[in-house]
Amino acid sequence: MTIMEQRHGTIAVGTAKAEPGKITRGELLLGHFPDSPITSPVMIACGAKPGPVLWAQGCIHGPEIGGPVALQRVLNGIDLTTMSGTIVAVMLANPNGFREYSRNTPLDGENLNRIFPGAPAGPHSQQTAHYLFEAASAVADAMLDLHSGGDRSLVPFYALYRNDGSAAARKSHELAEAAGTPDIWASTDGWLKGAMFTNMTARGIPSLIIECGGGGGLPEAHVKSFETAITGIATALGILPGKAPRQGSYRVMDNALLVYSKLGGFFEPAVEAGEVVDEGQALGRLLNPYGDVIETVTSPIGRGWIGSIRKRYMPVYSGDQIAEVIAVLED
Ligand SMILES: [Zn+2]
Repeated sequence: MTIMEQRHGTIAVGTAKAEPGKITRGELLLGHFPDSPITSPVMIACGAKPGPVLWAQGCIHGPEIGGPVALQRVLNGIDLTTMSGTIVAVMLANPNGFREYSRNTPLDGENLNRIFPGAPAGPHSQQTAHYLFEAASAVADAMLDLHSGGDRSLVPFYALYRNDGSAAARKSHELAEAAGTPDIWASTDGWLKGAMFTNMTARGIPSLIIECGGGGGLPEAHVKSFETAITGIATALGILPGKAPRQGSYRVMDNALLVYSKLGGFFEPAVEAGEVVDEGQALGRLLNPYGDVIETVTSPIGRGWIGSIRKRYMPVYSGDQIAEVIAVLED
């Protein structure tokens, strides 16, 4: 018997226990309120046949609700009889961020996806990161973290992985090519060193972020993109039958520059998420409350891909993040 066969139907995530040919539910402990545990709902879809375990999660940033909505749909619609392996869906990786519709954890203001691997005896969010990281590392053969631009920004549909030169990174790139999008951010960015996917990759587990949409809305097309990414990656792993989607060509990016405003006002974008811009090209302008143009925000680089942009007429303050411009390496 292979390890996969031995393990099949035996994994548990919190109180959820896998059962071959079934979908089971439970709760994963991620911290404690003064009077009760802090948990995420977990669904485990366990195929009739053995195979790899895909850990998929949403809402590590509270307003990024496309992840759990797509996970609900994929798992509730799955044919377990033809499935080889297991999909673990952790619906609300940051339960308090979800409840408050907040990107950062309301209890301590931390961005949970910047502090991995966390610390078991550290401050609140460090402990949550530790619980999540250990639970995922214990069962996952691959990890998928679903994100969006949240309530303030819009992002294109793309895949992001940690290009640390390891075998896990090469596998992550393969999985990224099956995510249903031609756009891949092969990141070596230092500011993402505390992200969960970076640390999972360092542990030898291929890991991806999928980004799509945001701006406070969730159109049906964006839910479908997330569903395509989840099923495409599960297919590339051999968990779901059939051929994974392939694009005719891929655009690969790295090194994101975060562009900040100098003044405050209403932000009027001049470009869209996913556009490629020239150096000095206007990304948008700020209007004061009288409607006067007081600042034009421009791209610091050429062949820059708009990885995120603040939503239309979003009120911004000085030093607010206006856009993420990522250098195109090949297309
Ligand atoms: Zn996010």
